[in-house]
Amino acid sequence: MGDRYAVIGNPVAHSKSPWIHAEFARATGQDLEYGRIEAPRDGFERAAEQFRAAGGKGLNVTLPFKEAAFRYCRRVSARARGAQAVNTLVFNDDAFGDNTDGVGLVTDIEQNLGFELKDKQVLLMGAGGAAQGVVRSLLDAGAARLVIANRTVAKAEALAARFPGVEACGYQALAGERFDVAVNATSAGLTGESPRLPQAVLREGMLAYDMVYGRDTPFLAAARLAGARASDGLGMLVEQAAESFFIWRGVRPETRSVLERLRASR
Ligand code: NAP
Repeated sequence: MGDRYAVIGNPVAHSKSPWIHAEFARATGQDLEYGRIEAPRDGFERAAEQFRAAGGKGLNVTLPFKEAAFRYCRRVSARARGAQAVNTLVFNDDAFGDNTDGVGLVTDIEQNLGFELKDKQVLLMGAGGAAQGVVRSLLDAGAARLVIANRTVAKAEALAARFPGVEACGYQALAGERFDVAVNATSAGLTGESPRLPQAVLREGMLAYDMVYGRDTPFLAAARLAGARASDGLGMLVEQAAESFFIWRGVRPETRSVLERLRASR
């Protein structure tokens, strides 16, 4: 039997991670199994310990457990510490936590979409786990300016305060501002809503990126209407998975064909 991995979350039935990792394993000749674990909302640690005690080698962590996973780990990477959230667990002698969301986003934007972030004006919408996970990577990619906007402004301010030079505000304060990239890291699209951006923030030539995938969100529809280039978060999902796979197996899987087949299957 191959090494065992799984995605843990609640809900988790919809997760595409088992399919993605099975494809990576097949393409790279790695012998592994990858399942899904739906843990009770107050039961992350217990479920993770059970999996580990049964010989599990690693977990991907999704909503709502990324912060709980950060607290659970004995050791974490610098990028997990920056995010204060963990989406990849490695079980060896202890539990090591990493965060691959930021690398996944930047790789999708720069390599798959061919849009360089260096010296760009970047707007990040949202201040939850997904936004926390990508701030460090957007800065490392060379963004000239990073503004975090959130419905609850205090949360944007608390997140920005952890990164020197990063600004925070509410959506209305963005009137008159000009960005090259707007990344929607809110869950608004899941309920058919959108952050309430002032007119003209979405404009021709910019990149509008929604981390939500599998549906056309009002944010992406408004961006296209304004002439912006629009992308959902499916590429981020595949790229963060590829980085997790590399951490676990030491082999970097090819992602383009996996992404193409996922898009075609929708
Ligand atoms: P979260 O921790 O629950 O945070 C939700 C965020 O969305 C908060 O900033 C919240 O604002 C904001 N929000 C929710 N409804 C809103 C609305 N109607 N209008 C404006 N803002 C609203 O969730 P998360 O973990 O950050 O995840 C956010 C999204 O990213 C999820 O949809 C998730 O699926 C997606 N995601 C995708 C990937 C990928 O690989 N593509 C990876 C990670 C996450 P308040 O603070 O004001 O409540």
